[in-house]
Amino acid sequence: VSEKQGKVGSRIMVFVRLRPMNMKEKEAGSRCCVRVVNRRDVYLTEFANENDYLRLNRLRGRHFTFDAAFPDSASQQEVYSTSTSELVEAVLQGRNGSVFCYGATGAGKTYTMLGTVENPGVMVLAIKDLFSKIRQRSIDGNHVVHLSYLEVYNETVRDLLSPGRPLVLREDKQGIVAAGLTQYRAYSTDEVMALLQQGNQNRTTEPTRANETSSRSHAILQVVVEYRVSDASMNIINRVGKLSLIDLAGSERALATDQRTLRSLEGANINRSLLALSSCINALVEGKKHIPYRNSKLTQLLKDSLGGTCNTVMIANISPSNLSFGETQNTVHWADRAKEI
Ligand code: ADP
Ligand code: MG
Repeated sequence: VSEKQGKVGSRIMVFVRLRPMNMKEKEAGSRCCVRVVNRRDVYLTEFANENDYLRLNRLRGRHFTFDAAFPDSASQQEVYSTSTSELVEAVLQGRNGSVFCYGATGAGKTYTMLGTVENPGVMVLAIKDLFSKIRQRSIDGNHVVHLSYLEVYNETVRDLLSPGRPLVLREDKQGIVAAGLTQYRAYSTDEVMALLQQGNQNRTTEPTRANETSSRSHAILQVVVEYRVSDASMNIINRVGKLSLIDLAGSERALATDQRTLRSLEGANINRSLLALSSCINALVEGKKHIPYRNSKLTQLLKDSLGGTCNTVMIANISPSNLSFGETQNTVHWADRAKEI
């Protein structure tokens, strides 16, 4: 990690999380094609068709190593502590950071980020930890926490805490802001889970599949922590840190090239946001001067949370089933590339 930090301007940590095999996969007779060992290593095995002699001969397992890899038994708390707790500490120091969940639809992104009431995910655990860290700090200062929760769908930005007309992005002194976005002042953790669950309900659904969040929807929770204190000579010290937690759209469409369907526009725009994010991260770690933030709404919104002294965390979510092998392979290769740069 420190060696990485010395080499590049910004720091990126890459994690992989394997989810348990679900009922549907079991009933379909799936085999497990992923193994996580030592909380670091990921082994992928492709099962060839028994009659496919040519492929069987070439069949090999592949091995990858990450900053950490979570087996299907890993708890939400373990995922949070290992991947994100350091970023919460940094936000209290006035630094920005972002955490992304990347992977195919159904791989466990929303479970990891939002989770359930019984098993809250990274978003909720981060806010809980933030409040407990604030409580532990000296009482001389004044911390204010604001939350905003928004969606990028079809290159349109919407407020998930107060649904309505699309929001317009504007550039002002503070950077790029979504005009009129709700800044919810949070006082405790208790109210937050309900708020986020409600916001998640407001995400765009497929017209054909009511109640199911569109795989093309990106959800972004931004937590802004402001610290204000006056020093001995009554000068006001103001420190602001921002943590962005992002449940990305399903990555399966990022690689789709067939644009001729009815949904081609949406498909193209999803590609745009995910591709733009990849290009920005690439440019940042390569130390490029020009970072192409302007290419998508997602990257415009994250301009102040990527690069510079910001910390970036990627959590790649994967399914264990051989039925999803192609998607898993894509996701792990992508994560491996992100780690190498
Ligand atoms: P995505 O958001 O990537 O499309 P979800 O997070 O909605 O996927 O996960 C798909 C299903 O699998 C959900 O029912 C979710 O509750 C379940 N699931 C995902 N990850 C886990 C996990 N680590 N443990 C238990 N259930 C999980
Ligand atoms: Mg989801």
